[in-house]
Amino acid sequence: MTTEVQQAKLDFDADCPSCGASVEFNPKTGTLSCPYCGYEAIIPQAEEEENRVAQELDFEAEENRRNFDWGTEKKIIICGECAAETVYDALQIADTCPYCGSHQVMEAETQETLAPNGVCTFEVTDRQAGENFQRWIKGRIFTPRAAKESAKPDSFTGVYLPYWTFDSHTFSSYTASYGKNRVVRDSEGNTRTETDWYTTSGYYQEFFDDILVSATKRYDYSIMQKIEPFYLTDNKAYKPEYVSGFLAERYSIGLDDGFDLASNNMHNQIESAIESKIRWECGADIVSSVRFSTTHDHVTYKYLMLPIWISSFKYKDKVFQFMVNGQTGKVGGQAPISPLRVTIAVLLSSAILYFIYLWAQSANF
Ligand SMILES: [Zn+2]
Ligand SMILES: [Zn+2]
Repeated sequence: MTTEVQQAKLDFDADCPSCGASVEFNPKTGTLSCPYCGYEAIIPQAEEEENRVAQELDFEAEENRRNFDWGTEKKIIICGECAAETVYDALQIADTCPYCGSHQVMEAETQETLAPNGVCTFEVTDRQAGENFQRWIKGRIFTPRAAKESAKPDSFTGVYLPYWTFDSHTFSSYTASYGKNRVVRDSEGNTRTETDWYTTSGYYQEFFDDILVSATKRYDYSIMQKIEPFYLTDNKAYKPEYVSGFLAERYSIGLDDGFDLASNNMHNQIESAIESKIRWECGADIVSSVRFSTTHDHVTYKYLMLPIWISSFKYKDKVFQFMVNGQTGKVGGQAPISPLRVTIAVLLSSAILYFIYLWAQSANF
């Protein structure tokens, strides 16, 4: 557990040794580079393979909840407009909120922000993100042509969003009712189905690996889902170099609340696994009233930063937000909708349904 803390404490100097500007993580090369003079430095890797990726941390261990060391000086900026809390490098200019564009920003007094222990680094550059956006908007069938042609994305802001992932060994004991169907034939030869009901109980164990929970509430969840998945196993143990030059959002869902969300997710998966288990074991046709309680053992977590390009574009004075997955380049967002195109699609599909109906009618005769 202490290795992450020590790793993060490696001194990191964000100044370019040849010109003094700030060096940034470069998604194209995976190195630290200076955008002004072209200076480039390889980011040193840990000797041991297992220290190169984020380690599982013990959920119960107190010391993990006090690791506020980002390995370099950071400041937290709070937006007075949208309440976003953003982690900046200490010397980075922070006069505009990256999410809503407001200038009502101020530095937070607390520096107590848990440092991440893993990062999925940017692999897609802002330029590639822009190209993917163009392809994406051209492929939207309900978007007016004028919007497709005029959509110019605003500049891209690279943000690391906070996520928790949890592992847990679960053990559940359950009770349930189940029904088995049988076909009954009466004296006149008519058949009907009758269900016999039984009760059952048992145990169910499952190990869950990397249940992912967003640690931020502020984003439109439907957009977030559209840019998933992230390849979480491609993570790197946190080093300040990887986030240099990028912003990081401060989590608004803490570790304990994150675990509650992950538990709900596991609960739902366990429920359907128990149902299938009963179907399989008892030859049940229907399973109902499943009741169970679960204990979690050896819970571990990782606190990962996942890369996202945020941008927006304007069409007819309306702003449309979108995001690009910084690891895969997948685009998700809002786009203008042409009522005419939607009407045509609805008419076309009703016409098709009508013809299918006519065809089915004629086939009956
Ligand atoms: Zn330089
Ligand atoms: Zn804001």
